Amino acid sequence: MNADIKNMGDMRAYKFRIYPDAKRQEEIDKRMVLAQQLYNKMLEKVKTEYTKDKNSKINKSTLNRYMKDAVSENKEFLKLYSQTRQDVFIRLQKAYSNFFRRCREKREGKKVKVGFPRFKSIERYKSITYPQDNGAFSIEKERKTNMLRVSCIGRMKIELHRPIDGKTKTMTIKKEGKEYYAIFAAEQIISLPKIEDTNPVGIDMGVNNFVVLSNGKMIQKPKFFKKREKRIAKLQRILARRTKWEVQQISKLQSKRRNKAKLHLQKEWNGVTNQSNDFMQNLSTKLVNTGYTSFAVEKLQIQNMVKNHNRAQSIQNASWNRFINMLSYKAESAGMEVIRVNPQYTSMTCSNCGGIKKIGEERTYICDKCGLRMDRDINASINILNRAREGHSRSHAQGDIRQYVPTGDASSVEELRTYPETFRESFIKASGEASDF
Ligand SMILES: [Zn+2]
Repeated sequence: MNADIKNMGDMRAYKFRIYPDAKRQEEIDKRMVLAQQLYNKMLEKVKTEYTKDKNSKINKSTLNRYMKDAVSENKEFLKLYSQTRQDVFIRLQKAYSNFFRRCREKREGKKVKVGFPRFKSIERYKSITYPQDNGAFSIEKERKTNMLRVSCIGRMKIELHRPIDGKTKTMTIKKEGKEYYAIFAAEQIISLPKIEDTNPVGIDMGVNNFVVLSNGKMIQKPKFFKKREKRIAKLQRILARRTKWEVQQISKLQSKRRNKAKLHLQKEWNGVTNQSNDFMQNLSTKLVNTGYTSFAVEKLQIQNMVKNHNRAQSIQNASWNRFINMLSYKAESAGMEVIRVNPQYTSMTCSNCGGIKKIGEERTYICDKCGLRMDRDINASINILNRAREGHSRSHAQGDIRQYVPTGDASSVEELRTYPETFRESFIKASGEASDF
């Protein structure tokens, strides 16, 4: 699971970086201080009451009264959005009921530490929450930029790198160091019943493309991928050279240079992970929303991935695994199946006659038996799809195992088989999709 999505029962939290300008930062910071002060003010009143009478019942209406008093004593608190004040109330209520729960547990003989809720320093109050999506905040598109609009604060750029699934319940603005984040808590969507599998598609991890679909669609590897792959391969070579030194006696300078190379490589690796995550989130969402009804993919062998010394390939494999996880989650919650098939010989098998031949670097698969000419990755993705169909008809105990003929946008399968390159170009031109990714 990604670090920026958190599961909380049937709620999920989505965290996005936001970029408030100086004026808005000031507005946010001011509100964090106000919320902190309001929290402490109310706690002070609770504490006074509790010190007077340890049996005093401090319930919701008592807290409500304290809130009203605090606001009338200091009108500044009115600058806090009413829902945000409500959240301060909820936080205090939580702290207070935790305190009572622990008191009770201690009386029952449990070993727990019991401390009265503490006053919060500004260092410990780094967020403000808007509890209900009732217009206090919204996300708007301004040309190609996503903007977060927050009532009384204003608009700021938001890095919305994934869609929020489900219904948004709260939005919290959080400050971490000098960075600001918006965290949305959304009620998770319930998985839909399985849909009828009328438009299945096979997906292959291409050699030059990121994915190739059995209907001939190709999604190119993003440019950053290739750039980073090159850089990572180079750093890997440097590090390998410097690791050799270690076998011999190495000087301080050499080990310093080696550590530097290591750090550099780690940085590059993190960069490609972040960038490819965004790309893959978009792609998997698109695939699930395109009208396919199931997805067939290759099952990757993890052991092979570790042994693989080809850096570019291992990046591809690692991203592929993450991509399949994203796709599976999204597809399954939409009632679609992701079928993982045995990856053996998928590139070597002819998708038309089933013949097997060795294949080297060539881009086109040419069958010696039936004469099929097809882009090698499209051929492989059709094999992947066929394999998933075979497995399915077997598991449903149906006698005839038929070859699945893909029904893509190509007017005829024959045309696609003979002119994969032309189709590819026209597809890129027509949809602009490949260049998007
Ligand atoms: Zn053939």
